[in-house]
Amino acid sequence: MAPSYDLHSHSTASDGTLAPAALVQRARSAGVDVLALTDHDTLDGVDEALRSAAALPLTLLPGVEISVTWCAMTIHVLGLGVDPANSDLRQGLGELQTFRDWRAQEIARKLERSGIGGALEGAAQFRKGALLSRTHFARFLVQQGHAASVREVFKRFLVKDKPGYVRGEWTSLAQAVGWIRAAGGLAVIAHPARYRLTRSKLKRLVGAFVDSGGVGLEVVSGSHSVDEMRHMAAVTREHGLCASCGSDYHGPENAWIELGRLRGLPHGCTPIWEADGWPLAGAA
Ligand code: AMP
Ligand code: MN
Ligand code: MN
Ligand code: MN
Repeated sequence: MAPSYDLHSHSTASDGTLAPAALVQRARSAGVDVLALTDHDTLDGVDEALRSAAALPLTLLPGVEISVTWCAMTIHVLGLGVDPANSDLRQGLGELQTFRDWRAQEIARKLERSGIGGALEGAAQFRKGALLSRTHFARFLVQQGHAASVREVFKRFLVKDKPGYVRGEWTSLAQAVGWIRAAGGLAVIAHPARYRLTRSKLKRLVGAFVDSGGVGLEVVSGSHSVDEMRHMAAVTREHGLCASCGSDYHGPENAWIELGRLRGLPHGCTPIWEADGWPLAGAA
């Protein structure tokens, strides 16, 4: 049987709720053969995940999901098969961490102004690693009874024009792809349908991404509808890109989809695992 790939997942090193080792074990139990750990802007979970995978029939691909600002929007770029020791990548992620720390203070300050105090300390209670994401703020606001769900917190507090929103100034698309390539990885645009881009804007994004050295689109995502998968498959063919698939798993309580349940790639796509420079070529 063809191996089962899940090339997008999160652990407690960013905003997932399972520790890296627990994530790897759950993925194996769900029948995943190749798992990429792609925490937001950090490689902190990779060592533990690799150690855990070493004892199992599962290949762990070190990865990262980099936050990018493109045309005043936040776009996520996956780096698959990166060398976690690469200094260009590590330094770049360090810069993003500095922005994140500043942004967390700003989010807390803004929430305070709208009557919600103690959010920085409150959100920090929900983190297990170094990184503080909007998801941690959302969990705190739910705990405090300001909303019934994480999803509702985002809608009411954490997105554009809402009281706790702080504009992102992450890194550039070219810079993110550059770090990924420097670290020997392949760059993939994460969940491309989630940005709600017009056709012409999507074309511009993909064009800029290809010019920077990006190689794939996440065609199958836990957050894509079947129509969105078909559309993104057509976009890969049009631009000569490869297709990736990932659940974007964040833990059992907030899954887009459970591990091991991804659909296969639509017909006519070139899978990312057949791309030039695929890090496991000849290995798995
Ligand atoms: P950050 O990188 O700190 O801005 O947080 C982004 C993360 O927040 C995403 O990776 C998702 O896990 C989560 N997120 C973003 N929008 C939503 C939403 N509408 N509902 C639930 N979670 C969301
Ligand atoms: Mn997330
Ligand atoms: Mn994302
Ligand atoms: Mn993700």
